[in-house]
Amino acid sequence: KAKSDGRNTWRFYDEEIDKANIDKFNLLQQIRLALKEQQFQLYYQPKVNLTTGAITGAEALVRWPQLDGSVISPLEFIPLCEESGLIVELGHWVLQEACRACQRWQQLGYGGITVAVNLSSVQFRDGALEQSVQQALKDAGLPAAALELELTESLLIGEALNIQQQLDQLSSLGLTFAIDDFGTGYSNLGYLRRFNATTLKIDKSFISSLCMSKRDEPLVQAIVQLAKSLGLNTVAEGVEDAQTLQKLQQMGCDEAQGYFWSPPLPEADFLRFLPSV
Ligand code: C2E
Ligand code: MG
Ligand code: MG
Ligand code: MG
Repeated sequence: KAKSDGRNTWRFYDEEIDKANIDKFNLLQQIRLALKEQQFQLYYQPKVNLTTGAITGAEALVRWPQLDGSVISPLEFIPLCEESGLIVELGHWVLQEACRACQRWQQLGYGGITVAVNLSSVQFRDGALEQSVQQALKDAGLPAAALELELTESLLIGEALNIQQQLDQLSSLGLTFAIDDFGTGYSNLGYLRRFNATTLKIDKSFISSLCMSKRDEPLVQAIVQLAKSLGLNTVAEGVEDAQTLQKLQQMGCDEAQGYFWSPPLPEADFLRFLPSV
């Protein structure tokens, strides 16, 4: 009896693994189809200058709208896209779309507005990133200076295949880099200099608790001061209330984004959010 119990246990695990694999496989198929049918949508979250209140740009964030009206968050499908390599195709679409949108804003008279695009380390492994970025800029007719690429620290510390060279090539196109989610990774400042990022985005986990946690205040203050001394622009992500905004202003943080101003919006709503020109 013990033996057949054992076998049953194994069968149980097999089925669980099978089911997880089938779910994953199905989701991947759906993502492939969604890419082909252009079901993905880019949302734009405004970024605000904390001194002037002006909108300096937007971060492009991908969304997957469903037929029932719900929207699937990138946190649910980006990891699978990275694992499968589909992120290369999705990432290229995001670049194309974001550059075209920003070019439209510039046409409408919002000349100084920039667009920020999140990159995955898998896109660097692919080897065709520079070409993809260059193509997107060219197809859209967008000046490279209007494009900011957001990288995470894990990319910079990864054992990565000529990352430095790729970043240099991208940089020579005239675009800029921001380090995303700063403070959650290794926070090795040497990297910031080496990869000549112009902006440091302070992770929202520190910002959202800024007014609650006594411990986060000196931390954020230190990050802002450090960034300043390195000549980097600071952006706080996840600002949700006026009190946090005020603290950040006192600390000398340059820019911010968050629900206090606006969640990420479809392009039409983002345009309505901009002041009229
Ligand atoms: P991220 O780049 O750090 O983006 C900021 C996230 O914070 C976004 O989540 C945004 O909606 C959310 N957020 C903004 N303001 C607030 C706020 O006030 N409160 C709170 N609680 N959250 C706020 P989202 O859009 O779900 O994106 C999650 C992550 O998915 C992004 O984090 C980014 O790492 C990744 N992602 C999104 N779009 C892309 C893409 O096109 N390519 C790649 N590779 N990754 C993407
Ligand atoms: Mg980002
Ligand atoms: Mg971020
Ligand atoms: Mg984040």
